[in-house]
Amino acid sequence: MARVLIVGAGLTGSLCAALLRKEASCPLHLSVWDKAGDSGGRMTTASSPYNPQSTVDLGAQYITCSPHFAKKHQSFYDELLAHGILKPLTSIIEGMVIKEGDCNFVAPQGVSSIINHYLKESGADIYFRQCVTQINLRNDKWEVSKETGFPEQFDIVVLTMPAPQILQLRGDIENWY
Ligand SMILES: Cc1cc2nc3c(=O)[nH]c(=O)nc-3n(C[C@H](O)[C@H](O)[C@H](O)COP(=O)(O)OP(=O)(O)OC[C@H]3O[C@@H](n4cnc5c(N)ncnc54)[C@H](O)[C@@H]3O)c2cc1C
Repeated sequence: MARVLIVGAGLTGSLCAALLRKEASCPLHLSVWDKAGDSGGRMTTASSPYNPQSTVDLGAQYITCSPHFAKKHQSFYDELLAHGILKPLTSIIEGMVIKEGDCNFVAPQGVSSIINHYLKESGADIYFRQCVTQINLRNDKWEVSKETGFPEQFDIVVLTMPAPQILQLRGDIENWY
């Protein structure tokens, strides 16, 4: 079974994992690694240490669906709405730019619930506090090194972190920059 590593448990990594699970024509062993202590990336929801019910979305607070993407991505919005993960945004947010045809959504359980939904759908093994430092090619496999622990080998590695963080990675991958 092909071993696939997705680096980053933000929106891109979680959706990529869910889509790979759904669309792949052969069985895959999927792993997701993130250097942070929790999922979400720039769509993290933090809880107050004094009151876990009190949460705040760090980064994205609402999702805008423009008419162009409404056509292309309707099935994604429908699924998240059906699960109650997204709800239409009905109030006005100060400073919000409203464009004709745009549709805005909020995530009542916190924006990271979108990411957690996709991670759950993917059935991937998820590991936090795994900071990838180097990627090398060894006998046709990608050997991925992290700050702590032994390197591991994968058939496919998908990097979903922002480009400046990808450029910090060392090893054979530098030849592909
Ligand atoms: C203040 C702010 C407001 C925003 N508002 C909105 C909004 O209203 N609506 C909207 O749609 N979008 C908004 N965005 C944009 C949205 O948050 C991002 O486009 C989206 O979250 C990016 O997701 P991503 O998975 O591509 O990247 P990220 O969320 O950055 O995920 C990358 C992940 O990779 C991990 N990572 C990085 N380096 C390593 C490494 N070496 N090893 C292991 N893991 C690593 C990181 O910890 C991170 O979890 C906002 C962003 C910010 C910052």
